[in-house]
Amino acid sequence: MNLYQDMSSYVDSHYPILYLVTFEEEAGDSLIRELASDRKRKVQEWNLARGFVRFDNKVQMTDYMDLPAALDNWLDQEDQYLNNRFLVVRDAHLALRDNPLAITRLKALVHRIIHNDNVTATVFLVSSQPCVPPELEQFITVFEQPPPEKDEIKQIIRNFGKDHRLSVDQKVTSELALAFRGLSEYQIRLLLNRGFRRGGELDINDVKLVIDEKRQIVKRTGILEMVSVTEGMDDIAGLRVLKEWLERKAKIMDSLPEAWESGVETPKGAMIVGMPGCGKSLTAKATSVRLRLPLLRLDIGSLMGRYVGDSEANMRRALALAETVCPCVLWVDELEKAFAGIGDGSTGGGRTGAGSEITSRLFGYFLTWMQEKTKPVFVLATANNVALPPELLRKGRFDEIFYVDFPDEDERVAILEVHLKKRKKDDLKIDVKQLAGRTDGFSGADLEGVIKDAIEDAFLDNKADLKTAHLLESIEKNKPHAMMMKSTVEEYRKKFKEMGIRSASIKANTDDPQTQVAYEIKGNRPPPSPS
Ligand code: ATP
Repeated sequence: MNLYQDMSSYVDSHYPILYLVTFEEEAGDSLIRELASDRKRKVQEWNLARGFVRFDNKVQMTDYMDLPAALDNWLDQEDQYLNNRFLVVRDAHLALRDNPLAITRLKALVHRIIHNDNVTATVFLVSSQPCVPPELEQFITVFEQPPPEKDEIKQIIRNFGKDHRLSVDQKVTSELALAFRGLSEYQIRLLLNRGFRRGGELDINDVKLVIDEKRQIVKRTGILEMVSVTEGMDDIAGLRVLKEWLERKAKIMDSLPEAWESGVETPKGAMIVGMPGCGKSLTAKATSVRLRLPLLRLDIGSLMGRYVGDSEANMRRALALAETVCPCVLWVDELEKAFAGIGDGSTGGGRTGAGSEITSRLFGYFLTWMQEKTKPVFVLATANNVALPPELLRKGRFDEIFYVDFPDEDERVAILEVHLKKRKKDDLKIDVKQLAGRTDGFSGADLEGVIKDAIEDAFLDNKADLKTAHLLESIEKNKPHAMMMKSTVEEYRKKFKEMGIRSASIKANTDDPQTQVAYEIKGNRPPPSPS
């Protein structure tokens, strides 16, 4: 059901007050105008700037100039002026704030509408944010004007092109429509104007303007960070199961309206846990590039406030902001900080008593939001900790939870190749197989470190070309993470297996239960175990 149909049913069922939350005054007005004209109702408007005005052109009503402009007086009009009317109060959140007289007059008006047959009026409160006084709560129904959908955005772009005699090619229209999602029609038109004035046309580069605009929205609030990203899916070596899963979700995110039509639900996102330096953050970044959506980073640690309630309020603001900027990828970094100490009655990441109570509430709020969220905020939560609370594993929170382990030999080959190529050292006949054989227990970050170090050595070695020998030397110098904390690594692996969390990779060793799971996802049979 669209907004018009939804509001129609409330008007026709004589609900006294409809609250329309919208940033688009013009679009809100057209909706009210259409509702009125279909029912042959007259529309009156009151606004803070001029009091009683004509709804169509906002000119002050001269016939009623003797009426004082105060809202409470306007709401107290005689019955004869209220028959068959829509009464629109603009910027209602400002007009009703600290205005007990207007609130009580509105309540009295509601009673007249309900009990007096001569008063067939409907009150429309219109504003950019809802403000529902408790005294009126039971009489108000809130409606939110959603931002334009992909096809509507395309139409706005086409109309803009027509008005400015521009021919905007289909590819540009589609790319811009994708980037504009989540913005209001007004914001879209402003950006189209900026793009047009910059280069005299609309092209792919204007997508950057849109990302900048979304960055501005995030900056203004300062609670999330918008991360600039260049890494794509091709920069991730290995982690095939995770990458294939993400591609599947990306295809849904690419065409959400069609997916919704077919009954597909908005993807919620995934949780990625596991070893440090093994590509969790890299995956979050590459996902935003693949989805062509902005990446917002939420650092759980920075939410912790000094006063009671601060942390939850910060979490609420952060999640609300992500919904404003959506569609987007929300990268919740170090999620373990939000559940440290929960349920074990012990300290929570150094927090005891009130501290762990705060994290508990914070975590609870996040889980409820994940469970109920319907907006296209694709969440990628990353964590190192293994002590995942059972609530987190319950279905309905994340679409999937993945475990990222240290790379196996094949993955190490791929990681080395990616990083050599990135540094234009991929045509030097380097024996990556040999290197991979010598780097068991190295993370992706360790392998990258080995390459950086070896390139430096080669440079200092009379600016020689990078050779396998430089890399072998560098391997000897750099101790891998896994060796440094072998016992912890083993404990992690055991726990993840017990919890049945899916491996992000397909591994050659089929004795590993993670591999079995990975193959189950793909519906394939695992390869024969190497003897
Ligand atoms: P932490 O838990 O310590 O934050 P992480 O798992 O988030 O670690 P990343 O930040 O993703 O680790 O990895 C660090 C760097 O290591 C990446 O920027 C990338 O250069 C390299 N790297 C890690 N894993 C891979 C991989 N699978 N493919 C290619 N590069 C990788």
